Amino acid sequence: MISVAIDGPAGAGKSTVAKLLSKKLGFLYFDTGALYRVLGYYFIKNKLDYKNPEVVKSNIKKIKISFKFVRNQQKMFLCDEDVTYKIRNGEVSMAASIISAIPETREFLLGIQRDIANKNNVVMDGRDIGTQVLPNADVKIFLTADVRVRAQRRLKQLRRRNPNVYYRDVLNMVEKRDKNDRERKISPLVPARDAIIFDTSRQSLNRTIFKLTRIVGKRINGKK
Ligand code: C5P
Repeated sequence: MISVAIDGPAGAGKSTVAKLLSKKLGFLYFDTGALYRVLGYYFIKNKLDYKNPEVVKSNIKKIKISFKFVRNQQKMFLCDEDVTYKIRNGEVSMAASIISAIPETREFLLGIQRDIANKNNVVMDGRDIGTQVLPNADVKIFLTADVRVRAQRRLKQLRRRNPNVYYRDVLNMVEKRDKNDRERKISPLVPARDAIIFDTSRQSLNRTIFKLTRIVGKRINGKK
């Protein structure tokens, strides 16, 4: 199986790029952030203190998380509840980021992610795909962009569902999440040593996709 790992901070364009790239390659696209988000949603829904690592550790294995692909869309479930859209808000993002710093959480989700890559040609995006989840991925890309550009992009996304979201708050949230994800002890957000680092701040989406498709195509063909 062939795997393409795409890592990077929030708002760098990972999911947009990964989706388009997977379509061009005919691979499955898997968004690993959605797994962490479902966990975040679980703790919020059940009013459990996810800032307390002991609470997280004692609950994590009870969580029934699943997903299925419907017309190429990754649907996320908590038990039988479809949470695909409910996990897309600022509160869940922060909860996911806090919970994801706990080793037991990462261990819980590791097998699920590796299993997908064992069974499918995949473009997988996240924070630690190239470093921890798929260290032998065929291609590793680390997407990055200026924090203000990333906050603007996130704002646009969030405003589709809620017009009362403001730039300052989104910027604060992105900065906080960057700090959590970069400074955590386990699987911090860092580029893999063999990752291609790509800054999308001043690149249009078309240009980014054009360049990355070429780079990925060359790497994959070179390995055949
Ligand atoms: O990618 P997304 O913004 O949906 O991820 C939500 C949070 O989940 C991130 O801020 C990060 O803390 C965590 N995450 C992670 N490792 C991944 C994917 C996401 O720690 N592979």
